[in-house]
Amino acid sequence: MSRAGTRTPFDRDRAALWHPYASAGSPEPLWQVEAAEGVRLRLRGEDGAGSDVIDGMASWWCMIHGYRNPVLDAALTEQAGQFSHVMFGGLTHAPAIELAELLVSITPEGLERVFFADSGSVCVEVALKLAVQYQGAGGRPQRQRMLTVSGGYHGDTFGAMGVCDPVDGMHSTFAGLLPNNIFAPRPPSAATATPQEIAVWARAVAALAADNSDELAAIILEPVLQGAGGMFVYPPECLRALRRIADDHGLLLILDEIATGFGRTGELFAADHAGVRADIMCVGKALTGGYLTLAAMLCTNRVARTVSHGAAGALLHGPTFMANPLACAVALASVRLLLAADWRGNVAGINTALTLGLSPARELDVVASVRTLGAVGVIELDRPVDVAEVTRAAMRNGVWIRPFRNLVYTMPPYVCTGADLAVLTRGMVAAVAEVYGDTPGAPMTGEGQ
Ligand SMILES: *Cc1c(COP(=O)(O)O)cnc(C)c1O
Repeated sequence: MSRAGTRTPFDRDRAALWHPYASAGSPEPLWQVEAAEGVRLRLRGEDGAGSDVIDGMASWWCMIHGYRNPVLDAALTEQAGQFSHVMFGGLTHAPAIELAELLVSITPEGLERVFFADSGSVCVEVALKLAVQYQGAGGRPQRQRMLTVSGGYHGDTFGAMGVCDPVDGMHSTFAGLLPNNIFAPRPPSAATATPQEIAVWARAVAALAADNSDELAAIILEPVLQGAGGMFVYPPECLRALRRIADDHGLLLILDEIATGFGRTGELFAADHAGVRADIMCVGKALTGGYLTLAAMLCTNRVARTVSHGAAGALLHGPTFMANPLACAVALASVRLLLAADWRGNVAGINTALTLGLSPARELDVVASVRTLGAVGVIELDRPVDVAEVTRAAMRNGVWIRPFRNLVYTMPPYVCTGADLAVLTRGMVAAVAEVYGDTPGAPMTGEGQ
């Protein structure tokens, strides 16, 4: 205790903690969160200075309704007053039942059965296992590999890593431990793709599927937007092509909507852009409005029935905290809140504000491109971002962002006002301009509205 008294929280953090993808005791700048309300975080820096910033990350894409949302707070407190957790083997409870029914009713048609997992990565593991079990139950036990596209991100556990981009993912470090999956080229960019390019790409994927169909269980990818793999948008037609390829070769189609679900791309689920029905779908992140960790795998009754009648007679997964009642209760409140609001109008409004507000970045020499999709706004640089410097500069401009690779991006909470979005986009553009010694050529529009 005396030791703690003489050291700052930052010293203590560096002595005892790991942060995501960080070295132990990393010298990276840190801020302590003192409070969070609505779309704002109150942060304290190592120099003792405090600042109120807009959270342009929505806590890594999940805090869609804002911090301390009264409806979500109430749902959580109410469930805590009943029971916070019970095992899900042999027991059930209203929050799980109601949430499962609601998810089935709002996800694309055909997805009728729900498995609750405790994080997105685990949800992907379950989806992969289900696909392999499905093939085994159908008399094709040798079909255990996955077909995916380059540039994807599906989580940090081994199965999920095995379908992340083979170069940018962590494949080289864990080479001996990762399953040997098949990687098709990344789909063409939505910004530039011609119908011919899409057709060429689809033929290449179809050839890979045909060559390997004896060993393939499923196709897995993120629909329309590849998130952590590079905030890359591709045409919905590519998804329709994959649906056909999957059907032609007896593969299941697994759509990972963990980042894209719940309105983020402008449709409730990104698969809705293409009108494609998945056999298996994963949702997470925004599912609980950012309050607790929970993910859900949904599958068709055909898949569920096949696996349940297979040799194992069961889906072989069951986490300790499966369908945690607190998480289910807050997720139920969050999804209901989303559906009760004009989410489509809100996301469209955010898109307009992001498009307008980020466009001055195009004038900066260091900027390679600016793009938006739904409530996602991306400034792509022509070089890797100096994360510490850009983060500091954004902080000075009232904004919390966490760039990666060559991307300065935002996935703001849906409850941002026009004024919040003006501060956010202006702060992002200013941060890039300040760090890369440049000033935007165009006047900032949308300010203070
Ligand atoms: C974040 C993410 C995951 C992993 O979810 P965790 O909850 O971090 O395990 C999987 N797939 C996609 C598309 C994601 O964005």
